[in-house]
Amino acid sequence: MTDLTSSAFVHLDLPKSQLDNLNQLGYSHMTPIQEEALPLALGGHDLIAQAKTGSGKTAAFGIPMLQKVDVANKAVQGLVICPTRELSNQVAEELRRLARFQANLKVVVLSGGNPMRPQIASLEHGAHIVVGTPGRLKDLIQKQHLDISAIETLVLDEADRMLEMGFKEEMVDIIGYTPHNRQTLLFSATFPDDIEYISRRFQKNPMQIEVESHH
Ligand code: ADP
Ligand code: MG
Repeated sequence: MTDLTSSAFVHLDLPKSQLDNLNQLGYSHMTPIQEEALPLALGGHDLIAQAKTGSGKTAAFGIPMLQKVDVANKAVQGLVICPTRELSNQVAEELRRLARFQANLKVVVLSGGNPMRPQIASLEHGAHIVVGTPGRLKDLIQKQHLDISAIETLVLDEADRMLEMGFKEEMVDIIGYTPHNRQTLLFSATFPDDIEYISRRFQKNPMQIEVESHH
């Protein structure tokens, strides 16, 4: 039963275990942002993508990010920065679903408004992917509980909202702790000057993606 439509997940270069997982999640076809972003991100490119809420951004960055994680490696390998605690939790839940084919892969949420102790404890137990809000992430990095010096994938999710909330300095500071050879995936609904600045300063030949909304 080969699906001949180009937007079917089976056309991506993914392991069978992930294709089976996506199938179990009921994901057969890519959303428009996934269709544009996945081949490029899986190919290692940096992306600057315009996409709205509900467009399926998490799988667009999550599938390529999870693909690169080595569970045997104890280091944090992927970092997703989100504007709010609620969005961090949603992204982490979706990443855990997408990671069900990778046994023992740990996704940890580090967001403000929650006590810090349990977050420090989960980091000590090992985290392959960290999802969190800018203030708390910066705090935990500076207190040396979080080491992001070996990440391979950095995601800025809803980047325009983070800037609107006044997190520019935290974002810039956090990115300063990541290695230069990372892949950087930036998602934003709008492109004000500050987003262009972040992209120019921190991305390498990013591929630009825009998805039309058909309403
Ligand atoms: P965004 O971050 O862009 O708001 P999400 O990544 O949270 O969107 O995805 C929105 C919803 O769509 C989630 O419930 C997710 O499980 C679902 N979803 C994402 N991609 C697909 C797909 N290819 N097929 C079916 N459902 C999907
Ligand atoms: Mg989202």
